[in-house]
Amino acid sequence: MHPKFQHFIDGQSVSPQNGDWIDSINPATGAVWAQFARGNAADVAGAVRAANTACNRPDWRDDSANRSAVLHAIADHLDKNFEQLIEMEINDNGKRIREVRAQMAGLGGWYRHFAMALADMQVEKLSLDQPGVSAHLELMPFGVVGAITAWNSPLMIAAWKVAPALAAGNAVIIKPSEMASASSVVFAELLAPVVPNGLINVITGYGHEAGAAIVAADAVRKVTFTGSEIGGAKVAGTAAEHVKPVTLELGGKSPQIVFADANLENALNGVLSGIFLSNGQTCVAGSRLIIHNSIRDDFLRRLQSNLESLRYGDPLRDDTDIGPIANKPQFDKILAMLDRAKQAGADILAGGHKVTVEGFENGFFIAPTILQNVATDSEIWQEEVFGPVLCVNGFETTADAINMANDSHYGLAAGVWSSDAEFAKDVASRVHAGTVYINHYRSVSACAPVGGVKRSGYGRELGPNAIRDFMQEKAVWQGDAPMPDPYAQ
Ligand code: NAD
Repeated sequence: MHPKFQHFIDGQSVSPQNGDWIDSINPATGAVWAQFARGNAADVAGAVRAANTACNRPDWRDDSANRSAVLHAIADHLDKNFEQLIEMEINDNGKRIREVRAQMAGLGGWYRHFAMALADMQVEKLSLDQPGVSAHLELMPFGVVGAITAWNSPLMIAAWKVAPALAAGNAVIIKPSEMASASSVVFAELLAPVVPNGLINVITGYGHEAGAAIVAADAVRKVTFTGSEIGGAKVAGTAAEHVKPVTLELGGKSPQIVFADANLENALNGVLSGIFLSNGQTCVAGSRLIIHNSIRDDFLRRLQSNLESLRYGDPLRDDTDIGPIANKPQFDKILAMLDRAKQAGADILAGGHKVTVEGFENGFFIAPTILQNVATDSEIWQEEVFGPVLCVNGFETTADAINMANDSHYGLAAGVWSSDAEFAKDVASRVHAGTVYINHYRSVSACAPVGGVKRSGYGRELGPNAIRDFMQEKAVWQGDAPMPDPYAQ
C-alpha cells in the first residue's frame, strides 16, 4: 500500500468527500509512490468555511503582535523539523537532495522575515488637501487567500505566499500541484501544534477541479498563483468573473547576455547554475545564452567540458549531480520540443536525448542540452521548455544583444555579464524583465521583489510591499471642524 495524503482542513487531516485519489509517480523510479486526495468543490467549501472563521477571529485579524508571534513559532518549528519534509518533496519531483535540503533549511527564514516586517509596519497618516478634516490609512486583510503552487519547489513557493498572507491577517488555502502535493500536506500537519486551526489549509487535487473551485469561492478574496502561462490565464479568467485580484507568477525564457569583457569563470558558473542546476526546472532558468561572437566558441567548449563530468543518479544521494525530470508529462514535453528543434535545424552541441541510468531504468532522465545557431523565431528559442536545454546565439553589437534579449513574450529574469559596472547597469535598465542580475544569477531574498513583465505575469511577491499586497487600503476620515450645511453653499 502507498501512503495516502489527505486534505488538511481546520487543523485536521480529512479524506476527500468523493473518495477519489490521484497517484503520484516518483520520477526517479517511474513507479507510483503515494496517493493524494482528489479534491472537489465540496472539499474546498469545507476549507473555505474553516479559513473564513479563522481569519475573522479578533485575536488574529486585529492583533498583529499575535500574528507575529505565530509566524515566529512557525519559523522556529520549521528550523527544528525541516528534515521531515525533504524526502517527501524529492519523491514527488525528483529534485537533487542538496538543493532541496538547502531550500528546506531556509524555509523558516521566510516566515521569520515576515514576522519581523509585520512588527515594523506603521499606521500611515494621510496629508489631505482640505481644511477641517484629517485622515489616516488603515490596512485590512483580504480574508481568505487562495495560494496555488507549481511542482518545482512546492514549499518555497508556498512560503512566499503563505508567510506574507498570514502576516497581513489572512487565512490561506494552499492548492499544491497534483504532481507534487506531499510536502505541502506534511508541512501543514507538522505545523498544527503552532498554528491556530483554519489558518493554513491544504486542498490537493487537479487544477480544473480543486484549483478552479478555490478561485471561484466567494469568501476567497485574493488568489496568488505560480505556474504556467496557460494555467495562469485560466485562473485570471475565473478570478475576473468573480471580481477578485490575482497575482500571477508565470514562466520565462530568460536571457543571459555575456559581453566580451566578462569574467568568464563567473559567467560560466552563472550560466551553468541558471539552466542546469535544477534541470532547468526553475522559473528564472537562464535558457537563452546571448554571447559575444569573440568569446563564444571558447565559452561553449568550457561549458561542454563542465557537463561531461556530471553524475546522473538517485536524487536522494548527496553525490548525484543530475536527477530526473520532475514528471512524465514534462519529460515527454521536453523530448518532443527537442525533436522539433532538431527538425528545425538546431545544431546540438551537447545532450539532446534521454538517458538510461543504471538502477533507475524507468526514471525520467534527460542529458543537459546545448543547442546553437537556433533561429530566433523558432519554438525552442521563444517558448519555455522548463528543462535542461540551453539555446545559444552570438551577437556583434550591444544593441543586437539587447534586441535579441527583449524579443520574447516573456520577461521574468535576465543575466548581464560584463566587467564594466556602469555599462552593465545601463544594459540592465534596458532589458525587459522583473529581475536582472549583474555578474550573478538565481539568488532570491525576502527583501527583493519577484515577478514578471509581459506574459511572465503581473504583481510581485516578496520585497518591501509583500505584506501590503495581501491587504486592502481603507481611508478613514475624521471631521475636525463642524460639518457645514450642504444647502448653504
Ligand atoms: P500549471 O499551470 O500546470 O499548474 C500550477 C498550479 O495551478 C497547479 O497547482 C495546478 O493544479 C493549478 N491549476 C492549473 N489549472 C488551474 C485552473 N484552471 N484553476 C486553478 N488552478 C489551476 O504549472 P506547473 O506545470 O505546475 O508549473 C510549471 C510552470 O510554473 C512553469 O511555467 C514555470 O515557469 C512556472 N513557475 C513560475 C515561477 C515564478 O515565480 N514565476 C516559479 C515556479 C514555476
